[in-house]
Amino acid sequence: MELPEAVIIGDDTFNKENLSMFIKKSAFLLTGPNVSIIFKDKIASALNGFEYKKSIVQSSTFEEAERIFKEEFDANCEAVVGFGGGKVIDVAKYIGYKAGIQVISIPTSASNDGIASPFSSLKGGKYPYSLKVKPPRGVIVDLSVIMKAPKRYILSGLGDLLGKFTSTRDWKLAWIEKGEYFGEYASKLAYESAKHAMISTKGIEELKYNSIRNLMEALISAGVAGGIAGSSRPLSGSEHLISHALDIIAPDKGTHGEKVALSTVFIAYLYGMNWKKIKDKMYQVGLPVAFSDIGITRKEVLDAVIMAPTLRPERYTILHKLKLTKDDVLKILDEINI
Ligand SMILES: [Zn+2]
Repeated sequence: MELPEAVIIGDDTFNKENLSMFIKKSAFLLTGPNVSIIFKDKIASALNGFEYKKSIVQSSTFEEAERIFKEEFDANCEAVVGFGGGKVIDVAKYIGYKAGIQVISIPTSASNDGIASPFSSLKGGKYPYSLKVKPPRGVIVDLSVIMKAPKRYILSGLGDLLGKFTSTRDWKLAWIEKGEYFGEYASKLAYESAKHAMISTKGIEELKYNSIRNLMEALISAGVAGGIAGSSRPLSGSEHLISHALDIIAPDKGTHGEKVALSTVFIAYLYGMNWKKIKDKMYQVGLPVAFSDIGITRKEVLDAVIMAPTLRPERYTILHKLKLTKDDVLKILDEINI
């Protein structure tokens, strides 16, 4: 099991004192273009007294991560500090892994479960899914920062958690039918995070402080479930394969969590689960309830569902089992109306 060593959650936790738990002298700071402006003073105050080099992450692609690693990374730094959204954290984990140094994850939004997980999700590489890297050594959640994130990104985190309803079912299916290792505890932990998301929709919709804090804790424990399992199995099943296929077929439409939540409704239907309840909660909280809400066409969804199992033939899921035809997919899309 590879897990973060320390997780700090609270107000104004991105500060010099907390950084000193991990860094003595120097850091390589990765941040996003907007975050570096909005939180300019916070960054300066937290890193005051440390030697640091700052780089701006423009996209979460292999090309960008490699460019930063080759051209901007300072090999003398003790740690990569990623202060930003999902893209920044993914690039920080990749660079930390390549350089063999610790990563401090400081998320600025609740957009996905990569905050504390040992996986890096970069686009445009050899594989269209997450790479196994190391978990961040430290996770610092500064709620005074997260509360300022656009609501859409907070809801995306909730959407990513809903996916654990079906990813855990796929994992169990692979155990039963293919004899794959199945970690009951890791699976339960990931499943609980989805259940938790379902019961906190009202508070999250109203952006209540305690609900956002709980959402962050659920995202962290989902990432930890991946660390316990030693694979992304508890976090990512066929709903993520559809989302990854959409990343290729309809790039830049919708956030990761929105695509995962919509795909979860589809997979929940295949499992005979209560997909209507999931969809209702998505509606109540303000997540999209149809792919067209995020500009994805019916044809693109159809192609993505057909492509999804081919992205990871070795990772058995309900899509690999059922081998849906185009007609099957269209019928289901009509019935669940997403
Ligand atoms: Zn995800």
